[in-house]
Amino acid sequence: MISSLVLTLIAAAIVVQIAVFSTTIYLHRSVTHRAIKLQPTVALVFRMALWLTTGIVVKQWVAVHRKHHAFPDEEGDPHSPHLAGFWSVQLGNVFHYVREARNPEVIEKYAKDLKDDAWDRYLFNHGTTGVLVGLTLLCLGLGSWGLLAGALHGVSYVFILSPSVNGLCHFFGRKNFDNTATNLQSIAFLTGGEGLHNNHHAFQRSPKFSYRASEFDPAWPVIWVLTKLRLAQPYTTIKEALAQPQES
Ligand SMILES: [Zn+2]
Ligand SMILES: [Zn+2]
Repeated sequence: MISSLVLTLIAAAIVVQIAVFSTTIYLHRSVTHRAIKLQPTVALVFRMALWLTTGIVVKQWVAVHRKHHAFPDEEGDPHSPHLAGFWSVQLGNVFHYVREARNPEVIEKYAKDLKDDAWDRYLFNHGTTGVLVGLTLLCLGLGSWGLLAGALHGVSYVFILSPSVNGLCHFFGRKNFDNTATNLQSIAFLTGGEGLHNNHHAFQRSPKFSYRASEFDPAWPVIWVLTKLRLAQPYTTIKEALAQPQES
């Protein structure tokens, strides 16, 4: 009983981090902001992981997130804690997300560059199927404890981690740059670097979210290794962008 519970907690932690790393490296940095170009097989692995652990439909997430960057904490922001209220976003982020994700005009306007391929049509655009297949795999490994592992992962991802980036990281924390987002290193540790949100809002195309020596972006070592293996091509980092001569 105790060992099964420990195993379940470890499995939930691993699954949530697979979801987090797929979200930040593939969905956010690569597809949404073109901050990294991933080799197609690597991209497919991330797409599969994202589908099995979150069921997110890429086009929808990309569109909602790009709209957030178009109107950060202004009228039109899909999930601003300053407009909707801190607790509304921190607890109900998923509801703000779904409202925008289901609006075809938002998808058409902000994700029109993304075209479905056969993988999307037959598999990845069917989010509920992905979550059910993922849950089945967990149950094949853990028996009925897989349901608990899946539930713990789902609650952490949907109600704690994702909302913390949109809620806490637009409300509390430090700023290196002049924008409405904030940096929270504690959240960055749990979200694959997403908590360094002030840096990200300032340099959306940087594949590395950390800027100061005291900041750590957990996804960056993964991207660095992929780059060394020639499986990823990163765009310019914050430091590289700042070192470039400014146009007058
Ligand atoms: Zn933001
Ligand atoms: Zn972004």
